[in-house]
Amino acid sequence: MREVGCPEEDLFSFLLSRRQEDLGYRNILSSMCTPPHPVAARAHAMFLETNLGDPGLFPGTAALEELLVERLGTLMHFPKAGGYATSGGTESNIQAFRIAKKQKPVKSPNVVVPASSHFSFQKACDILGLEARTVPLDSEFRMDTEALDGLVDKNTVCIVGVVGTTEYGVVDPIASLSDVAEDRDVFLHVDAAFGGMVVPFLDRPVPFDFRLPGVASVSVDPHKMGMSTIPAGCLLVRNPEHFSCLNVDTPYLTVKRECTLAGTRPGASVAAAVAVLEYLGMDGMRAVVAGCMENARRLIDGMETLGYPRAVTPDVNVATFSCDRVPAGWRVSRTRNGHMRIVCMPHVTRDVIENFLKDMSDTNA
Ligand SMILES: *Cc1c(COP(=O)(O)O)cnc(C)c1O
Repeated sequence: MREVGCPEEDLFSFLLSRRQEDLGYRNILSSMCTPPHPVAARAHAMFLETNLGDPGLFPGTAALEELLVERLGTLMHFPKAGGYATSGGTESNIQAFRIAKKQKPVKSPNVVVPASSHFSFQKACDILGLEARTVPLDSEFRMDTEALDGLVDKNTVCIVGVVGTTEYGVVDPIASLSDVAEDRDVFLHVDAAFGGMVVPFLDRPVPFDFRLPGVASVSVDPHKMGMSTIPAGCLLVRNPEHFSCLNVDTPYLTVKRECTLAGTRPGASVAAAVAVLEYLGMDGMRAVVAGCMENARRLIDGMETLGYPRAVTPDVNVATFSCDRVPAGWRVSRTRNGHMRIVCMPHVTRDVIENFLKDMSDTNA
């Protein structure tokens, strides 16, 4: 550290110069995050110093966390779901595995995950000493449920299905997974980090949530399509008792026990997540999601007209293409199979899509 502090003006011009090296979201087509909704930013600023790790000191903020869980539980068709606000999908997935593992104490536990699952499950398996068994995908990148049954055995503590896969934006056949989970009496975790804030707002949502009896837990991230500030995730469980197996004693806090992975936890991004849900309501979210889906369809149409076929017709606003080139100035990403991947987040407006398509057609020429 400096021996003597730096004047505020110098400090902020230094910070500004670093900030200006960041890319603006405008030409970023690869991210599942987006600039926070203005009400999220405003709420975040209001709750900056709050700590949900010691909720007795912040009962108002803690009530907002409960409201978030209730709202998201209701969205997932189970208003009585237990839950808490995590730092995102990674923490939610780790915690779901912890619960599943404790529910079924076996010598060499394994988990069965689709090949499309997010890399956070690798971390979770490493931390928890779980063997990962990978289910292959069908031609549309969804879990091939034919292969699932053979991979589940008496040491399987959890099956994972994904709603809105990170790479191809498809939804696994969760209803079939629910049947297998019930038949074989295995904990089913649904990773809806991305799709959990998309699918419920589609015109004809496929059931993927607590409406399916085999679903034990769901993760959903307000900091992606929920347009909250970062970090804001949520883990929901059908049986709130399940959290008690994670409890540790917290002698010097205002609460005696906690089940969360993090200790000190931000209230600001939780208030921001609640703010967006309350401000937009179902109607507002439907409009945002309809716009993103419409833009994804327009992008797919435009790319195919230029000769770049889609890899798959997505269930959520992620579009993928057979296309090796990228016009200058645009950030797209690549799937493990090499497909171009574009996430049509709210900042990827119709104008942005048209500009991108125009640049694509210029590079074609
Ligand atoms: C983004 C994502 C995650 C990880 O979430 P983080 O918030 O980055 O920790 C997990 N699963 C899926 C399906 C995701 O899209």
